[in-house]
Amino acid sequence: MTLRMRLQPEAIGSGMTSQRVRDRLVERLRENGIRDERVLNAIRTVPRHLFVDEALATRAYEDTALPIGHGQTISQPWVVAKMTEAVLEAEPKKVLEIGTGSGYQAAVLAALGLEVHTVERIGELLRTARKRFRQLGMNIRSKHDDGRIGWSENGPFDSIIVTAAAPALVESLTAQLAPGGTLIAPVGGASSQSLLKLHKDADGVVTQHTLAPVVFVPLLSGMID
Ligand code: SAH
Repeated sequence: MTLRMRLQPEAIGSGMTSQRVRDRLVERLRENGIRDERVLNAIRTVPRHLFVDEALATRAYEDTALPIGHGQTISQPWVVAKMTEAVLEAEPKKVLEIGTGSGYQAAVLAALGLEVHTVERIGELLRTARKRFRQLGMNIRSKHDDGRIGWSENGPFDSIIVTAAAPALVESLTAQLAPGGTLIAPVGGASSQSLLKLHKDADGVVTQHTLAPVVFVPLLSGMID
């Protein structure tokens, strides 16, 4: 697989961000049930330490969520891997992400050669994520908006990935899913959430099942600068 990004010296890393440390994370993900080599390879290659504050860079290859400011988090690598595996099952070309956050999940999808569209409600997080995409030479389409309305002008999407939890599946997002497409979203409240996978067949009939228990920050309404 050819990974689509430009690696500059700071992306290569050293010490606690070195290739050896990243390989160890990938082995851990493999032990914890991640099987898709394309996903493991993308996680091995995308420099997660560039998606967190410099002070947290040494922890970037631990399998944990980390704070990114504004009360938000970069998702745990296992969760990113699990969601990305589910996205790839539909053999998608065009993907919509709701909740850009640090930009890491979007970068993993872009590294896999997918056409990525991502929406974030917090302007400052989006501006920082965009700088990282540029730095890595990644062409990711992004929008500052309330992602609960999706991005209908650019849809429909082969796959939709929601990275913040809502009490129920968001109808307007399901509507922007192409026939044959898959939507992955955490659903539930603050204390208990499940990662759901929804499939829309060629006739538009929808089926869903649960992938794993997860913890995500909430999907909120409106936008802020
Ligand atoms: N995918 C991100 C995870 C970020 S956490 C990453 O890889 O780092 C979830 C993100 O969803 C937060 O940045 C939060 O601001 C954003 N979010 C919450 N509600 C949203 C909404 N309605 N529209 C767009 N983004 C939203």
